[in-house]
Amino acid sequence: MVVDQNIPATLVEGDGIGPEITASVVELLDVLGAPFAWDRQSGGLEAVEKYGAPLPQQTLDSIRKTGLALKGPLTTPVGAGFRSVNVTLRQEFGLYANLRPTKTVVSGQHFDHIDLVVVRENIEGLYAAKEYYLPDGDDPQGLAFGGGFNSRRECARIVRFAFEYALANGRKKVTLVHKANILKLFSGIFLEEGRRVAKEYEGRVAVEERIVDACAMQLVTDPWQYDVIVTTNLFGDILSDLTAGLVGGLGMAPGANIGTDVAIFEAVHGSAPDIAGKGVANPLALLMAASLMLAHVGRFDLRKRLDDAIEKVVHQDGVRTRDLGGTAGTKELTEALAAALR
Ligand code: NAD
Repeated sequence: MVVDQNIPATLVEGDGIGPEITASVVELLDVLGAPFAWDRQSGGLEAVEKYGAPLPQQTLDSIRKTGLALKGPLTTPVGAGFRSVNVTLRQEFGLYANLRPTKTVVSGQHFDHIDLVVVRENIEGLYAAKEYYLPDGDDPQGLAFGGGFNSRRECARIVRFAFEYALANGRKKVTLVHKANILKLFSGIFLEEGRRVAKEYEGRVAVEERIVDACAMQLVTDPWQYDVIVTTNLFGDILSDLTAGLVGGLGMAPGANIGTDVAIFEAVHGSAPDIAGKGVANPLALLMAASLMLAHVGRFDLRKRLDDAIEKVVHQDGVRTRDLGGTAGTKELTEALAAALR
């Protein structure tokens, strides 16, 4: 394989703790010798001040051109006129798959040796809902209506993504998570398509099915039975935050939003305004997102070195930020990781 040493990628620092954690991650990727050539663009509040929009055209153009982005958390301004930046990005670039691997780094806690992946459908379901009020008796807004849709095409595509991910990453089982017992059409279509696609992988990857409420309970009582979970948008949103909780919370949760032409990597957490500028933010979620990005461009060698350094510093040496019960600041953790990578 010819290794491309100069892969253009868009970098958006983001708001709040964004600049602190992206600086840490970019420094560590440099030490690692990662092949990314960064095109720095603005997003979030800084972009609102500069360009009047949280996702300016230049940023969107850059992502379209590079097809690859590492994004710090963006604050969605509260108030009329601003759509959620994440929803805009998903729709603009057709980022149909949300990938959230969950792995224990700090073992010895209540949930040890967790290693599972949630694949969430990212552009349909209830999050494509049209919401409005209807009258209820005398109250003109007494009833709130919300409807969404799931297409056979997207259900099949997300399940196929999960199986292909399983094959490429040595995973053994995919669980289709649904609520087809109650939502017979809305969730049933996902289960039908899931079963159909699963047949293509018979003998290579095992398949099982779970109703979402039972899955939520089992993720707390016996998460080790799961390998790859694939599900629709709302269920995936909730279950993937639950799984982040199994391994130390949002500071340890990376995410990838993947489409046909564009992939955007980010931490699952937000801009954490309560700790911004204090030098205590945990950069690991964004660093793990960078690790997913390295795998995405085929640099499994660098990914392994990065993952090994995280394991050594955070688990073995116990250098941890406050959210993980430690005392290290962002700078101290970054320095320890850089030393482990050198
Ligand atoms: P948040 O994730 O920013 O913070 C929740 C809690 O977790 C806070 O106490 C925070 O200090 C802590 N936390 C989060 N990340 C941390 C880290 N890396 N290290 C240590 N502690 C960390 O959620 P919020 O406060 O609800 O949202 C703040 C803003 O972020 C909002 O404007 C929201 O819209 C935005 N947001 C953006 C994204 C994104 O860009 N992907 C995701 C979620 C929220």
